[in-house]
Amino acid sequence: MSGDLSGKAVVLGLDGATWDLLRPLAERGVMPNLARALEQGRHGRLQSCLPPYSSPAWMSISTGKNPGSHGIFDFWEAGAPGEKRLVSSRSARGRKLWELADDAGKVAHVVAVPVSYPPAQLEHGTFVCGMFTPGESVDYTWPHELKAELKALPGGYEADPYAQGLEGRAFIEQTHAVIRQQEVATGHLLEKGDWDLLFSVIQAPDPIQHKFWNVLDPTDPRYDAERAREVLPMLEETYRRCDEVIGDRMAMAERGAFVMIVSDHGFGRYEKNFYLNKVLEDAGLLVREQKAKQVATRGLSTRRVIDFVRRIDVFGIEGRVPTRYREKLARSIDSALSTPIDRAGTKAYAAARSAESVFIETHVPAEERDEVARRAIAALEGARDPDTGEPIIDAAMRREDVYDGVELERIPDILIDFGERPYVASDRLASSGIVEQLPAAGGGGRHRRYGIILALGPGITPGEIEGANIVDLAPTALHAMGLPVPQDMDGKVLIELFADGREVQTSEAASSETSEVAYSDEEAAAIEASLKGIGYL
Ligand SMILES: [Zn+2]
Repeated sequence: MSGDLSGKAVVLGLDGATWDLLRPLAERGVMPNLARALEQGRHGRLQSCLPPYSSPAWMSISTGKNPGSHGIFDFWEAGAPGEKRLVSSRSARGRKLWELADDAGKVAHVVAVPVSYPPAQLEHGTFVCGMFTPGESVDYTWPHELKAELKALPGGYEADPYAQGLEGRAFIEQTHAVIRQQEVATGHLLEKGDWDLLFSVIQAPDPIQHKFWNVLDPTDPRYDAERAREVLPMLEETYRRCDEVIGDRMAMAERGAFVMIVSDHGFGRYEKNFYLNKVLEDAGLLVREQKAKQVATRGLSTRRVIDFVRRIDVFGIEGRVPTRYREKLARSIDSALSTPIDRAGTKAYAAARSAESVFIETHVPAEERDEVARRAIAALEGARDPDTGEPIIDAAMRREDVYDGVELERIPDILIDFGERPYVASDRLASSGIVEQLPAAGGGGRHRRYGIILALGPGITPGEIEGANIVDLAPTALHAMGLPVPQDMDGKVLIELFADGREVQTSEAASSETSEVAYSDEEAAAIEASLKGIGYL
């Protein structure tokens, strides 16, 4: 590559990256390019959505809309309780950054953005799907023939390589290969000619941190020194390879490109499950079905089942049980454990397996819903960890106090913010208490709300940036390319990153329709297995 890159926008996503890990890695010399970038660029915390899941967060990043506007909240589309349809790139309302660029005649190259299948059919650019691609056999590139081109590159190509569910050292080694493989593909796309937008995501930090938090973070009380001796050098190599990519994007900034290095959410440790439905039951808002109490006595002891679920469903047990067997086991145990609730007697419940949220039952009449919400919030905020006497959550909030937008009805009624507290929400009822310690061997990393932003480029002065939100990235990238910002975006242009004094141009809201993507049963199973493999479920 050579020449002037002025007017081009580059977004590099590091899924789940947090300054809590990256700064020490930069200081220790593992990420020398990042150390340099921190001196040259504007950097700060980037607020994600609530709860900070990858799926809604990448939708917010690409559409400039909050979940109340784009309608995605979880890995599944909102629907009737019990009904689950996996999210696709077509589930979210709102034109995406690359579509807007394409509409304006710009050339956009998009590589490995999570939840971007099926591929956007760009007129001028190219598109390669990432995590949530339902298997290698589907068409995950645009144009379609690009897939064969990428596979023919040295190192080959796979859209969702972590779906294989490798564990331990094999998994870490895989991240090393995948980061390079993706960069080879990205370089190949950029060689196709002039371009305007490059948007690529390195997924590795997210699953690495889910699995190895207590190895990566020496301040974690459960820090595992023995395991660190064994795998920390390999883990550092993953970040070193991320740093190579950062170095490449810095070189683009030096040639005039506007570069943002961002994460979809932050990360931190967690040690305990917090059983939302148990709290709601104790508050008299949830009633379980009588016959469900018999489940645990049928052969499998609750203790054994919970031990299994902990290791299988929440973490995945390192190397000892083959993935396929584990998934099968997890599914059967999961269904044995799912305690049906008595819907008629219940007023509020937690449902989605991964969501830190509470639904108010649909049968609760309008005039009673405020009171039910108030009671549920009081119960959740009043819950104390019996081990410490401390609150378990920072806050529980009604959805309308967090978000607004035309899709607000699709997201749960009450959202929970754990802040920096070391808990993760669970909807299971098969627990005697409201919290339960999890085994340190699982790694114990979970998403937190504040990720990273680091901007580099012409006119960007070194220093900090405050108050940036993931919904600001799309408007900011549009402005960097000289394009107007559609009025229906919730985010704002981070104007302090621009020294040229250009005014922000706005345009009419871009029309967009959501549509269903019917994954086949096999494809849906492949995606769910992938989520389990990387520790999301
Ligand atoms: Zn993520």
